[in-house]
Amino acid sequence: MHTHDAETAALTDAVINYSIDRMLMDPPPLDHPRTPEELADAGPTISAGGMGGQRALRFFMDVLAPASLSVDHPRYLAFVPCAPTEAAVLFDLVVGASCLYGGSWLEGSGAVAAENETLHWIAGLAGLPESAGGVFVSGGTAGNLSALMAARWRWRHQAGGRFDRTRGALVASHSAHSSISQAAGALDADVFWADVDAAGRLHGSAVQEVLDMLPPDDRERVFAVVATAGSTNAGIVDDLEGVGRVADAHGIWFHVDGAYGGAALLLPELKDLFTGVERADSFIVDPHKWLFAPFDSCALIYRDPRIARATHTQQASYLDVLHEQNEWNPSDYAYHLTRRPRGLPLWFSVATHGTDAYRDAVRTTIEVAHEAASLIRNAPHLQLVLDPELSVVVFRRRGWSPAEYRAWSQHELDAGEAFVVPTTWHGETVLRLCIVNPLTTLDDIAVIIDSLA
Ligand SMILES: *Cc1c(COP(=O)(O)O)cnc(C)c1O
Repeated sequence: MHTHDAETAALTDAVINYSIDRMLMDPPPLDHPRTPEELADAGPTISAGGMGGQRALRFFMDVLAPASLSVDHPRYLAFVPCAPTEAAVLFDLVVGASCLYGGSWLEGSGAVAAENETLHWIAGLAGLPESAGGVFVSGGTAGNLSALMAARWRWRHQAGGRFDRTRGALVASHSAHSSISQAAGALDADVFWADVDAAGRLHGSAVQEVLDMLPPDDRERVFAVVATAGSTNAGIVDDLEGVGRVADAHGIWFHVDGAYGGAALLLPELKDLFTGVERADSFIVDPHKWLFAPFDSCALIYRDPRIARATHTQQASYLDVLHEQNEWNPSDYAYHLTRRPRGLPLWFSVATHGTDAYRDAVRTTIEVAHEAASLIRNAPHLQLVLDPELSVVVFRRRGWSPAEYRAWSQHELDAGEAFVVPTTWHGETVLRLCIVNPLTTLDDIAVIIDSLA
């Protein structure tokens, strides 16, 4: 099993060839889900004797892969797609083959140095100080939780370890991602909800209102204010400057969730939209969303990494050796210990292509989103709900019931045409396109628009 023989040599060729073929498919088949029964009927695959690598690979190719959507299909526009560069995908193979450990400097200094250079590039885009730093975690959900854990640590620490600082709270808006509520649940914290404007944007005044209305005891429980830089549902950037100012005036940790939208920091023409992001105590952006890295990857960055380290460092006799030197241990900056250096595919791709190519690719997707909005504006059967701010386009099909939206969406997926799912906007069922794939063209959008007629 661990030695290389003729059989594994042949398997090596088969796996590498499959990987290359899949990478070069343009486009790959969209594919569609199968039922648990269909998939169970195709198996079982695990037995005492094993089925052999060639057969297992065949099973993946014939049964499992077609039952798993190609998230990089140019008409996969649901949720937030993933459109990794070839360089990033190739390097993901290298990371896997190299058996790298990314948790400590002692074990992974080379990998960690490259990840940190990548994190500093992102921190610089957000205008965070040179001393900012963090770690790549699995996704925005993990990033938000880890950041908010650090916020709560500071809140408790500021109280000098007073025992009445037990149940904390955060201020967020309903435009925040669902993972913020989940993090609050994990932290056993309350959420005080702030109002948003008609576009779903959170302003500083709304945060101030919430804080003003709270009884002093509750006000003292607030350990973080969360703003979103690119809401998942509509791609709206909160008033980061206003929200950040209010958080700052009250000495409350300011967390900015840019899991989806943070990539747009690359565009100088959108700089004004993000004014105030540099006030963040913590900031996240998911390279697996709009920075063209494969799953799974979230860049989590702290203004003052020392707080994160105090929050997250695990203490155990068998780990002491890692902390003897004062080096950068990625494990110490989030809720995890063992970790893959999952920032390396992004590092390799950015190092290969340069940051200008990233800026251009993000710009391309925003242009397509704006052109898509024009097509929708001019289509008599459709109505644009909101001018796109980033690359999410929300619109309605005139006269359709929720059931009609769902039936259309299912039909498009079954036909292998497109993956677009309905969402709701102010309680109404509408459609949402999220364009982060530079290979998604206006023709793709036109095909979808026609199918809605
Ligand atoms: C996607 C998203 C998240 C969650 O990220 P995962 O990588 O799916 O865990 C958090 N916040 C926002 C704004 C998002 O768009």
